[in-house]
Amino acid sequence: MLIISKKGYISILFYYIIIDMNKKLYVISGSSGVGKGTVLKGFLARNPHFMLSISCTTRKPREGEIDGVNYFFLTKEKFQQNIADDKFLEWAEFAGNFYGTKRKYIKQCLEEGKDIILEIDTKGALQVKKQMPEAVLIFICPPSIEALENRLRGRHTEDEETIQKRLNEVKVELERAEKFDYKVVNDELERAISEIEKIIEGESKC
Ligand code: ADP
Ligand code: 5GP
Repeated sequence: MLIISKKGYISILFYYIIIDMNKKLYVISGSSGVGKGTVLKGFLARNPHFMLSISCTTRKPREGEIDGVNYFFLTKEKFQQNIADDKFLEWAEFAGNFYGTKRKYIKQCLEEGKDIILEIDTKGALQVKKQMPEAVLIFICPPSIEALENRLRGRHTEDEETIQKRLNEVKVELERAEKFDYKVVNDELERAISEIEKIIEGESKC
C-alpha cells in the first residue's frame, strides 16, 4: 500500500500542475510542397529547445534522407504491426503511403514538460486534436494554388504520378484547414516563421 503524507500529496499535486502548465503540443500541417519542412527548419534553428517528432513512413527515402533523422522508414508489414500494437498516436495514408506518429516519444516529451512539434498531414492533425484538444493546430497555406504546384514541382523529388496524387489532396486539405486553430500563409519565408513564433508565444501564455 502506498502511504503519502499530506505534504507529499500537495507536492505531487503541485508537480503535476507545473507539468500541465508546460505541456504544449503544436501540429504543423498543410499541402505537400507548401513549405512545411522549410518553415520548420527555420523555426527550429531559431527555437532549438523545441522537440520535433520523427514520424514513421512506408515511403521510400528521398536522396539524402536518413533513417532515424528524417523519418523511420518502415516496411508496410512493420507499419501494420505498429498499428496492431497501438504504437501510434495517429496515423494516416497519404498519396499511397502510410505515415504515423509514435505515441511513446510524444508522451515522454510532454511528461518532461518539453514543447513538441509534429509535422503531419491534415487527417493526422485532426486525429491528434480529437485525442488531445489542447494541441495547437497550425495550417500552412500557399500564397496561391499555382505557387503551391510550382513549389512541389520545383522541389524535383516526386515523379509526375506522385505529384498528381499529392495535388489531388489539396481541395480536401483546404476544407480540413477550417478546423485548425490558426492559418499561416507561407508567402515570404521569414514572415511566416515570425507569425508562427508569435502564435506559439501567445499560446505559451495560455
Ligand atoms: P513541404 O514540406 O510542405 O512538402 P518543402 O518545405 O519541401 O514543402 O518546400 C517545397 C519547396 O518550396 C522547396 O523547394 C522550398 O525551397 C520551397 N519553399 C518553401 N517555402 C517557400 C517560400 N516561402 N517561398 C518560396 N519557396 C518556398
Ligand atoms: P512527405 O512524403 O512529403 O515527407 O510527406 C507527405 C505528407 O505526410 C506531408 O503532408 C507530411 O506532413 C505528412 N506526414 C509526415 N509524417 C506524418 C505522420 O507521422 N503522420 C501523418 N498523418 N502525416 C505525416
